[in-house]
Amino acid sequence: MCGIVGYIGKQNAVRVGVDGLRALQYRGYDSAGLAFLNEGKIVSARAVGKIENLEERVDPAWNSGLGIFHTRWATHGKVTERNAHPHSDCSGDVWLCHNGIIENFKELKEGLIAKGHSFTSETDSEVLPHLVEEEMKNGASFEDAFFSMLSKIRGTYGIAAISAKNPSVLLAARNFSPLLVGVGEGERFVASDVSAVLKHTPQVVYLDDGEVAVITASSHHIYDQSRAVRKKPEHTIEWSLEEAKK
Ligand code: GLU
Repeated sequence: MCGIVGYIGKQNAVRVGVDGLRALQYRGYDSAGLAFLNEGKIVSARAVGKIENLEERVDPAWNSGLGIFHTRWATHGKVTERNAHPHSDCSGDVWLCHNGIIENFKELKEGLIAKGHSFTSETDSEVLPHLVEEEMKNGASFEDAFFSMLSKIRGTYGIAAISAKNPSVLLAARNFSPLLVGVGEGERFVASDVSAVLKHTPQVVYLDDGEVAVITASSHHIYDQSRAVRKKPEHTIEWSLEEAKK
């Protein structure tokens, strides 16, 4: 177990995300990382060990309206900074974090390497941003490429992804790894559980297995993987942050 946080909105994503990771610490992790949009590019920081080690790398001047955050529990590849998430595509435009296991990553990785992609980690997860990149290279939008990537993978996942070319959208998907969308005023969150969002909003939409969320600061749309719209109820969490932590 480990965790994911995503943020899009008017607060500083870096602050919200790192706080969120701290709230998810109880799930266990061996390393942590973040990626956020900064003046049209995506900046990332990763560290092995405690969230505090990641925080030491956070420049207090960093301020962004879009970011993804991850705590890793290594399944493929050692506990190293390189293997910590988020991972990117070759261009550094698409960044993604993943909890779970991609069962068919070996064949996907071989196919991507044959097409000229280069990899920097030993993880199963790194195929995901490269699959998105490959589709975008062929003309797909970020959203289309994300759906196409999902149709190619087998395994378990919670995923959050951002693209420098599409700064107004945050994408998320769930399959046997919990994920929810937190709904605020002009802001949205993605998180593995409510403890990471309760400080900001009690309104959440729980994703079910096989569901995908297309999120902007002011909207969230949930689909199944064949892109049929899923009408999802919004839940109001009645517990306090302290109760959620328990
Ligand atoms: N399988 C991925 C890895 O080893 C994700 C692990 C996780 O769930 O944190 O990096």
